[in-house]
Amino acid sequence: MKPAWDLPAPEAATHARPDAAGLGLAELKALVISLGEPAWRGAQLFEGLYRHRWARWDQFTPLSKELRTRLEASVDLCWPEIVQSQPSEDGATKHVFQLADGKQVEGVFMPYEKRVTLCLSSQVGCAMGCTFCATGQMGILRNLSAAEIVGQVVAMLNHHGHPEGVPVNLVFMGMGEPLHNLDHLMAAFAILTDPKGLAIPPRRITVSTSGLVSGIERMGAFPKRPRLALSLNATTDEQRSRIMPVNRVWNLEALASALGRFPLQSGERITLEYVLLKGITDSLEDGRRLAAFARRFPSKINLIPFNPHEGGAGAEPHGTGGSAQRVRATEGAHEGNGFEPPDEARVGALCHLLAEAGLSVSVRRSRGQDVAGACGQLVRNPRTED
Ligand code: SAH
Ligand code: SF4
Repeated sequence: MKPAWDLPAPEAATHARPDAAGLGLAELKALVISLGEPAWRGAQLFEGLYRHRWARWDQFTPLSKELRTRLEASVDLCWPEIVQSQPSEDGATKHVFQLADGKQVEGVFMPYEKRVTLCLSSQVGCAMGCTFCATGQMGILRNLSAAEIVGQVVAMLNHHGHPEGVPVNLVFMGMGEPLHNLDHLMAAFAILTDPKGLAIPPRRITVSTSGLVSGIERMGAFPKRPRLALSLNATTDEQRSRIMPVNRVWNLEALASALGRFPLQSGERITLEYVLLKGITDSLEDGRRLAAFARRFPSKINLIPFNPHEGGAGAEPHGTGGSAQRVRATEGAHEGNGFEPPDEARVGALCHLLAEAGLSVSVRRSRGQDVAGACGQLVRNPRTED
């Protein structure tokens, strides 16, 4: 049987009426032409949607009142809607987005001193089935559309009143495997980076993958693309295949060789994310094997102490999943039960070992933990799910 990620993920249902949200410039031009308007009005729509982040037709004041009324009557503007926001004590805010079909995904807004970082979802659920990850226990429900990806950015920046001039970083480290949704991801990337759109520089956008080599190769072939992060998470095939089923198809050697071939720009490095699971992936031997892997291409290492969630042993009393999801998370948890965060001393020792080996290493203190917004804690219970 084919693994779930080998099949295309289900797509969002199409709307009865045209929807302008998430359309590129050429599509917006075609849309206005179909309304009997000149093509250049498409560029006005593009700037209104993505530079000004207008979410209602009555905000499009450069257009005539008559045209706004016609747009209102015939074209949707269907962005994901923030239905819940949970500020964390550390300054991050976890947002829940409601999609047109009632499904929900999550994103996290993280302000820093000189920038903001938005953590975005790429799918509802995930097909990859990593055993330590709350999203992985949901299975895959569907891909997000380009509008639903761009819409998370639009909604979070509007919600927080993002000031001009503060750099925005985007990380696809929320729900889903972004490379399992590459077409919509790259359509969203074009809008996010367009100087007349959200104007976010490509180097500020990072896509994190569990190691879908076919997707890594496809993304590497784009002349303009996001930066790449790999969730390595284990250093032997035996370990990795146990916690990340994708490793049974593309093992560590296949991964290292794909990353070695990945066409990096000068100064660009691949981020290696490494979730530390106490007693499983946090030995000093793991550290030495991680160093050997990381030396095979320009890289930087991000150690992520495991964040407990409701499928794990150290589960927090709160959580974002509803009861139905919790039941499923428990049923499907397998080794999801029993994972624990590493001891602080071990995190320090591994950091030291990697730095001594001449590698660039940081520890990601996941933000938003108290509101279950940290890495691997994102899980939704889509209320309309049958
Ligand atoms: N699907 C992509 C991106 C989303 S997951 C990927 O796997 O790379 C984002 C990051 O969170 C990954 O590095 C993943 O390994 C990590 N992660 C998942 N569950 C976690 C948990 N419970 N604690 C800490 N990190 C976790
Ligand atoms: Fe999916 Fe990433 Fe979670 Fe694995 S770690 S199940 S790829 S979201």
